Amino acid sequence: KVRSEGGGNIISLTKADHKALSTKALIEKRLLIALDEKNLKVLYQPQLNLATGKITGVEAFVRWEDEEIGIVTPDVLIPIAEETGLINDIGTFMLEQACLQAATWHKKGLNLKVSINSSVREFRDKNMVLQIRKVLEKTNCPANLLQIEITEKFALEAEAETSIIQQMKQLEADGIVFVLDDFGTGYASFRYMQLLPLAEIKIDQTFISTLEYQKKVQKLIQGIIQFGKTINMRVLAEGVETAGQQELLAGFGCDAVQGYHISHPVTPREIEKLLK
Ligand code: C2E
Ligand code: MG
Ligand code: MG
Ligand code: MG
Repeated sequence: KVRSEGGGNIISLTKADHKALSTKALIEKRLLIALDEKNLKVLYQPQLNLATGKITGVEAFVRWEDEEIGIVTPDVLIPIAEETGLINDIGTFMLEQACLQAATWHKKGLNLKVSINSSVREFRDKNMVLQIRKVLEKTNCPANLLQIEITEKFALEAEAETSIIQQMKQLEADGIVFVLDDFGTGYASFRYMQLLPLAEIKIDQTFISTLEYQKKVQKLIQGIIQFGKTINMRVLAEGVETAGQQELLAGFGCDAVQGYHISHPVTPREIEKLLK
């Protein structure tokens, strides 16, 4: 928070403001170096299809441990990256890594879909479609193995930006699948659900955590799953941490689950071990 006092152009910062600002500046500075040296890592979390009992996909998460500042979690990293514009560079890095990994598995005969998380700012780049097509080509990754997760905040902003909707539709025609992440926590709007080419809903983990103890939440989740079926969207529940949660979701007809109960985000090698 930068407070201006008395209407003049004097700006005074509290100690806490100073600290927040310098932390941000430090993260930005170190992140630039990390991106340049490709020092970011990617972990993958499996997604389990409840009908077949098979792992059919993974979600890619960025992981960053800086030698000066230590581990910076996505909850801290992503908002700063979004503000500074470095999210585009993180996005490019994650896209390349995810496609490379999907292609590597594909060559081994493993058809795992790989999801990446995308920020709306990345889609304001008019070259996004071209960039994704180039990466798919360069890495030999089939387009239908790539999934892009967008949040409700992204969807709400995209709803009013025809160029973003157009880009999403072009990518959908290529075979790329769009997924609505953190469903139910933002501003669910039926308008963007109608306008955007979305194939899957991910029920946010905050609902799953109370699922076993709250009848009301159970009804809500059952309703969302029915809703998904009616409008031909797959429904995945994220943040599944217990066998009880998974059983309830299976009973409700939920398509897939993801969470610590199945596995934490892990390395590609560990994903391959889980498949066996
Ligand atoms: P998200 O996409 O909704 O991802 C789910 C988060 O919950 C991940 O945290 C994941 O590690 C964590 N999680 C998975 N299973 C469980 C579980 O059973 N219980 C609990 N309590 N948590 C679980 P993470 O990796 O810290 O990411 C947080 C958020 O940061 C993500 O939410 C996503 O919005 C964003 N993010 C992460 N990586 C990227 C990235 O490469 N690009 C962009 N744009 N955003 C990213
Ligand atoms: Mg996600
Ligand atoms: Mg989520
Ligand atoms: Mg989230």
